[in-house]
Amino acid sequence: MRLPIVAGNWKLNGSRSSATTLAREIAASPVAGVEVVICPVAVHLDAVSTDIKDTAVKLGAQNAAAQESGAFTGEISAQMLSEYGCEYVIIGHSERRSLFGENEEACANRFSAVLAAGLTPIFCVGESLEDRESGNTMKVVEKQLQAVFSVAGASVFERAVIAYEPVWAIGTGKTATPEQAQEVHQFIRGLVASRDENSAQAVRILYGGSVNPGNASELFAKDDIDGGLIGGAALKSADFLSVCNAARL
Ligand code: PEP
Repeated sequence: MRLPIVAGNWKLNGSRSSATTLAREIAASPVAGVEVVICPVAVHLDAVSTDIKDTAVKLGAQNAAAQESGAFTGEISAQMLSEYGCEYVIIGHSERRSLFGENEEACANRFSAVLAAGLTPIFCVGESLEDRESGNTMKVVEKQLQAVFSVAGASVFERAVIAYEPVWAIGTGKTATPEQAQEVHQFIRGLVASRDENSAQAVRILYGGSVNPGNASELFAKDDIDGGLIGGAALKSADFLSVCNAARL
């Protein structure tokens, strides 16, 4: 049985004080049977790690460098993130890929660095609307995962989480139907199985894209959907906790 995960991606939102309030509200309502992760802006990690200390809520970052240290202005290494109590790091979010030019190889290198630091990558994959409409969804997702297999090896997903996030569903209010999502999740698990069966059984595959308290239960009920990566609905504690409750085993 895979323990579901719900991870909140706060993106570029929140002041130090609003991040602290949100973290404390989430930590004050423990949800059993699901791993709850929050991913604030990097400069708020220190404050938020104090807010959730000794609670079940885990800390994640929104990206990590491919390098450990050196002349890489603006980057933060996975090692540094681990010093602040991070256990998870989102890698390859579609906003990183499309707005900041992170290609497949760059994402795979960041993924490897996160694993090497002993943290768990939440590796995002997903197709654009154009890809979906031209019937290329599985091809795109396979290419994104293949980059990781090539750089990091066949069995790496035993120690990682995958998030399927169709780009057309992120922040748009359009959600993939549970059937559309399950079809891709099943494909992803099959692809991982073709490289390493143990990883396929272990890997948690999250759905992301306009998940909210109204649609979460139906999505999470599908066999290969092991929780969610949540954007907008992660910024209000009541909504986020309701999504977490919907993912409980
Ligand atoms: C995301 O950015 O990872 C995301 C899923 O956002 P939203 O829930 O707002 O669509």
